[in-house]
Amino acid sequence: MWPLFALLLGLAVGSFLNVVVHRLPRGESVAYPPSRCPQCGHRLGPWDLVPVLSYLALKGRCRYCARPISPRYPLVEALTGGLFLLASLFYPPGVEALLVFLFLAFLVALAFIDVDTFELPDPLTYGLLFLGLLASWALAFPLPFRESLDGSLMAAGGLALVAGYGNLFLRRFREARAEVPVGPHQVHMAALFGALLGPGVGMALAFLAWALSARTGRPVVLPDRLTLPLLPLAFLLAPALGLDFLESLKGSLLAAGGLALAGGLYWAFRPLPEEEEEPVAMGYGDVKLLGALGAWLGPYAFLALFLGVFAGALLGLLLRQRKLPFGPYLALGGVVAFFFGEALWGAYLRLLGV
Ligand SMILES: [Zn+2]
Repeated sequence: MWPLFALLLGLAVGSFLNVVVHRLPRGESVAYPPSRCPQCGHRLGPWDLVPVLSYLALKGRCRYCARPISPRYPLVEALTGGLFLLASLFYPPGVEALLVFLFLAFLVALAFIDVDTFELPDPLTYGLLFLGLLASWALAFPLPFRESLDGSLMAAGGLALVAGYGNLFLRRFREARAEVPVGPHQVHMAALFGALLGPGVGMALAFLAWALSARTGRPVVLPDRLTLPLLPLAFLLAPALGLDFLESLKGSLLAAGGLALAGGLYWAFRPLPEEEEEPVAMGYGDVKLLGALGAWLGPYAFLALFLGVFAGALLGLLLRQRKLPFGPYLALGGVVAFFFGEALWGAYLRLLGV
């Protein structure tokens, strides 16, 4: 009975996620008004809203205007139902299963919003992040709190640094404009100081740069051309300062992740600027999503990233499409790593003969 219940619940939640995916990026309420046909605006009755079955019964057309309904709607419902069914095979009924359902629902919404808009909304990425931290803190599920926090910061820090190096190479080492009061420059500073002096000091120095930028209204930062090339040297130098290589790497990623996620939170809560000002600051949507996955997966977030890059590259080649949103692949990698991460890692180690 439990898997059947999970499937039906997933279908119903998938139907709600269609509404979230459609309305959240437009800033509309997800609770009201009731669903309408996007083509003719006719209000939909209960018989038009039965997950998957309504679509099949109506042969993919609106009951009122007979225009085609996007197959996306039943697809999202069936996908969510399938994922909930999968979760029910791993977790018995209870609060843990409920948390896993929430994890999956957030990822489905994020993936499809990214497909539509090339954006990952802060309420969903930070919602997923804080839900993971809160569950770990209160229930030690899915991870002990410390692993959840470290996983989140290190995963976000790692991807923020990858983005930093990517931008530096793409711009051929021309310095990017530094954002006031906080942007990637402080993240890169945190990584460098964190590698040499540990995550606490690394973060403190970068927060100081943030505070001075806010105070003076001008960027108080070290240039990326300095911090990013020095970072690998810092890892090599760290043993002289009493940190071993892994400690240094961990300190760097923790500090960078702390700055990236705190900076993102600042921009998310900042009141909307006047029109015509530069819109999105920091970006970092994928960084925040991977940070959220880290809160649920711990170090397996890096496996999620690897799987996401692999799937994205594979599909990018198959579809011969240049511009693909990365969120759906990260979400897919996150789901696979959550259920099968340990099994995959074990199989990989056996393959290496370890
Ligand atoms: Zn219609």
